[in-house]
Amino acid sequence: MSTHIIDGNREAELVFEALKNQIDQASRQTSNKPGLAIVFVGEDRPSHLYVNRIIKKCVEIGLKADRFDYPLGTTMEVLLSKVHELNENSAYCGILVQLPLPKGYDEHAIREAIAPHKDVDSAGSANIGKFYTSAKCFVPCTPKGMHRLLKNLNLDLVGKHAVVIGRSHVVGKPIADLLLRENMTVTVCHSKTKNLKEMTLQADVIMLGVGRPNLLTGNMVKAGVVIIDAGINVVEGKVCGDADYGSLVDHAGYLTPVPGGVGPMTIAMLVENVMEAFLMICD
Ligand code: NAP
Repeated sequence: MSTHIIDGNREAELVFEALKNQIDQASRQTSNKPGLAIVFVGEDRPSHLYVNRIIKKCVEIGLKADRFDYPLGTTMEVLLSKVHELNENSAYCGILVQLPLPKGYDEHAIREAIAPHKDVDSAGSANIGKFYTSAKCFVPCTPKGMHRLLKNLNLDLVGKHAVVIGRSHVVGKPIADLLLRENMTVTVCHSKTKNLKEMTLQADVIMLGVGRPNLLTGNMVKAGVVIIDAGINVVEGKVCGDADYGSLVDHAGYLTPVPGGVGPMTIAMLVENVMEAFLMICD
């Protein structure tokens, strides 16, 4: 069977085009511009690249994006005071603190310090609480992107079986919740799951967020399954997902590549959340 490869770059570009139009339109009505502030601590190179990609995209579509870099060793007091200052600064409708913070920082305190109406990455408990009670909130960016990729396939999801692999707060749990809202039957697997293959063979849709290359292989799925893979791994210098692309291609119905699948959609969803924050202020 020929597998449809889901082009996350293309899907993200469509989101950015729509956002650019919205920003152009808004700029005709108000002199205010949506602004994103990014607080970054330390030197982690992949995180630097990720943040640079966010800023590049923001600038391309006419959104203000500034980063505030702090060296390792910066005190919690300094970081908290920056977040409080950004909360009050009307130039920014969204704040992203790049997580995880380096060891030794009280991440919980930083997450909670971000004003909920600017918490576009859904880091704090106010947004997370609203999310799990299906109230209006900023939906966490990676699961939002995975869900959007699935929805864009226009498949009938009701009553279908979704298997989520991974149960983190960032990927597994929130995507499981979004799939339940689609009236899918959802099984969540994790490192203590006894027989993963038994679960995945029953799945119509599989969502992965683990960080283990080749965890899911062609013999573990039924033909035609939809696979959306958020995993990011580096093997011999090459980036790959949790799904073994080679053994799944021509077997799955739909498959996201890594890179070029969920990653670009995560950034698109973050920028979409910034726009949502801006529109809330304008209302
Ligand atoms: P995490 O917090 O380490 O969670 C990993 C999850 O995988 C845990 O629930 C763990 O189970 C489960 N797991 C580990 N080994 C397993 C196994 N052999 N079988 C089944 N489940 C297993 O990681 P995360 O932050 O969710 O990130 C997961 C992956 O997504 C990483 O590769 C990360 O880089 C990537 N990611 C991508 C994006 C993006 O934008 N594309 C964004 C965020 C994260 P236990 O709970 O039992 O330990």
